[in-house]
Amino acid sequence: MKLTPEQQKKQEYYRDARITGEYGKIWQSVGKCVFCDLDDKYVFFEENGVVMTVPVFAYVDGHIMVIPKRHVRSVKELKPGEWETMRKFFYLAKKMIREVHGVKGMQIVQKDGSEAQSTVEHIHFHCIPFDNPELSTWNYQQLEDTPFDNAEKYRASRDKLEKLSKRFGKKYGQ
Ligand SMILES: [Zn+2]
Repeated sequence: MKLTPEQQKKQEYYRDARITGEYGKIWQSVGKCVFCDLDDKYVFFEENGVVMTVPVFAYVDGHIMVIPKRHVRSVKELKPGEWETMRKFFYLAKKMIREVHGVKGMQIVQKDGSEAQSTVEHIHFHCIPFDNPELSTWNYQQLEDTPFDNAEKYRASRDKLEKLSKRFGKKYGQ
């Protein structure tokens, strides 16, 4: 995929939105469920009604999200098959963060409840590379990657992902 200069500029606007203060403005103007309307250019893997995608407004480079396609608010509404796929995707995300970014630790964050999840009522799990203790206090930093760059990097390692996916089936059954 090739981006026009305008598209690239927009990608950099998304990338920097958390440190420029633009992020707050953007959320106030979103009137629909963004996770029911995921953008294909950020989704890099999908199985059984669950996707692995990158956020438009990443916390750190390499940030992945695991999201069921159905609009459900809580883990308890997930079907056993969806949950089983998520369990697998957490495993794959950890492996891919190591593969693509060389980071061995991963932090899974799921903001549950209306107070924590003020912007979206569609359950989503953040899979966050954990290579710097400061990041767990959410001190946002200048990113290198636009959301598009982030997706492209994971997409470029698609073969590895396929292989890991197959191996998971043999080792852990699904
Ligand atoms: Zn939704």
